[in-house]
Amino acid sequence: MRRIKTDILILGSGGAGLFAALHAHQKNPKAEITVAVKGLLGKSGCTRMVQGGYNVALAKEDSVERHFMDTIEGGKWLPDQDLAWQLVEVAIERIHELENELGCFFDRNPDGTVHQKAFAGQTFDRTVHKGDLTGIEIINRLAEQTWARGIKRLEEHRAIEIVKNRKGDAIAGVLMIDIRTGELVFVQAQAVLLATGGGPTMYKYHTPSGDKSCDGMAMALRAGLPLRDMEMVQFHPTGLVAGAGTRITGTIIEEGLRGVGGYLLNGEGNRFMHEYDARNERATRDIVSRGMYDQMLKGNVGPNGGVYITMRHLDPAMVKKEFPGMVERCADCGFDLVSGLVEVVPTAHYMMGGVVFRTDCSTDLSGLFAAGEDTGGVHGANRLGGNGVANSTVYGGIAGDTMGEWVANNGVFYEPDEAAIAEGATRVTLPFSATGKGPGLSAIRNRLHDLMWDDVGIFRDAASLSRASSALEELDSQLDSTGVADGQRAFNLTWHDWLNLKNLVLVSQAIRGSAEQREDSRGAHYRNDHPDVRDLENSRFTTVRIDGGRFDYGTRPVVFSRVKPGQTLIR
Ligand SMILES: Cc1cc2nc3c(=O)[nH]c(=O)nc-3n(C[C@H](O)[C@H](O)[C@H](O)COP(=O)(O)OP(=O)(O)OC[C@H]3O[C@@H](n4cnc5c(N)ncnc54)[C@H](O)[C@@H]3O)c2cc1C
Repeated sequence: MRRIKTDILILGSGGAGLFAALHAHQKNPKAEITVAVKGLLGKSGCTRMVQGGYNVALAKEDSVERHFMDTIEGGKWLPDQDLAWQLVEVAIERIHELENELGCFFDRNPDGTVHQKAFAGQTFDRTVHKGDLTGIEIINRLAEQTWARGIKRLEEHRAIEIVKNRKGDAIAGVLMIDIRTGELVFVQAQAVLLATGGGPTMYKYHTPSGDKSCDGMAMALRAGLPLRDMEMVQFHPTGLVAGAGTRITGTIIEEGLRGVGGYLLNGEGNRFMHEYDARNERATRDIVSRGMYDQMLKGNVGPNGGVYITMRHLDPAMVKKEFPGMVERCADCGFDLVSGLVEVVPTAHYMMGGVVFRTDCSTDLSGLFAAGEDTGGVHGANRLGGNGVANSTVYGGIAGDTMGEWVANNGVFYEPDEAAIAEGATRVTLPFSATGKGPGLSAIRNRLHDLMWDDVGIFRDAASLSRASSALEELDSQLDSTGVADGQRAFNLTWHDWLNLKNLVLVSQAIRGSAEQREDSRGAHYRNDHPDVRDLENSRFTTVRIDGGRFDYGTRPVVFSRVKPGQTLIR
């Protein structure tokens, strides 16, 4: 097994990973920093796919307090208020850093101020953007700066296991697969950042990039770390329906379309959102997705089972100018966004839940830090559109600062628990010796997609969650007996598909079990058998960890450290 040593190891090269690399380098230029990424640096993950933009309170009429209150109310009083406050406060510094230090060009008003557009669920138009493909601008500039600073890269290296020291009380490094050769690699590090970006790709319709399979969350679970809010999976309302068998189905067209006045129509051509919320199409994502899904369950659908979004009542020149990327994407799928109807479905987009972490990005394992979509607690029950990339860049930067200092003051290269490395190696190479006759990876993937969509999706209840429990266990054991040919480990995508599915099934179990714990309906989590929000003052968040090979679920009270339900910080 190849062995490498680096002071700081960053897993993932999205907004969180690259910001962490740059800030760690700034804080501690002597530290050796390595970014390890399953895909290519600058080309993988979801930050690159960000369309609509970045929420930040820049305008004179807006305020950090207002952004904070929108985040807390959108999150149905479940966010950790200190994390949410830091998000909205540091977002201002971060957007200036993106423009003035890293060289991003965001759209501007004629008077030179940064243009901010409307996103759903917000009381102020505060979403900074570069056209309707903002993520490419952000990630290209971040990648250039990372390359320029001599930060080391392990591209197409997949992290598979967090490895602790022999005492089990600190991180020693990470076990990986070099995807290009198929060889196992152990990277020893003093500080490790988990920034693999979650990614709810276990659902039939989903938006994240294909390299995301909840690897970081699965590794954290296997390492015994606590995760929170795992029942909170966000469905974005407008996923394209481009037919079966294409990856375009499920990918989104952006929220700004509803922000500027786009209508949702059911299969009969009627608007319906007024039946669900007074804000109509500009209600938060959870409410709009439920309204759409309700219409779908009632059969008020288009030819492919979805509903429609239309902009045809708006100025065509404005739609073409403001949303060129969306117009083109729809045209690629045979839809006319400017003057026609585009068939859409709610699509699994984002996980509000994730690894429990503190405001300095530290976790319960000494030397392990976490940032971005791998973490839980910032958004509570619902993430506002535009708060995702703010989260990854704000907390990525903070993680980099913390790790730079950590390595200077507390950093130790621990010797790894060799038994754990051997166990990890055995686990990931299991399919090469499996001899059972399972249904095959495609059938397992399709079954996982359907069961998560039907039973752990937009609506859930005790019966559906219980059905999903045994189905997920069955899928896991089918995977264990599904073999993968061992002729060629280099770029063996079937092997990686197997590994993806193992992680997705594990994290699906955590989502399912957490959904069972929460006997109320909050934000993205809706229980048909418990439709009420319940007692906000006594809100609790769910937790899950693996202890002795078994899932251990619990709840903890939300601490209202800044504002209580019924109060506001807006003066
Ligand atoms: C289509 C789309 C549009 C979006 N639009 C918006 C928007 O307008 N506004 C907004 O705020 N948010 C938006 N989001 C959400 C936003 O992209 C995410 O919140 C955020 O970018 C996540 O950043 P991250 O750094 O945590 O993860 P990512 O950017 O996803 O990066 C994860 C990285 O981890 C790597 N990785 C994964 N597994 C492993 C492993 N095992 N080993 C090593 N590396 C690994 C990946 O290759 C990737 O490099 C959108 C998401 C999508 C999918």
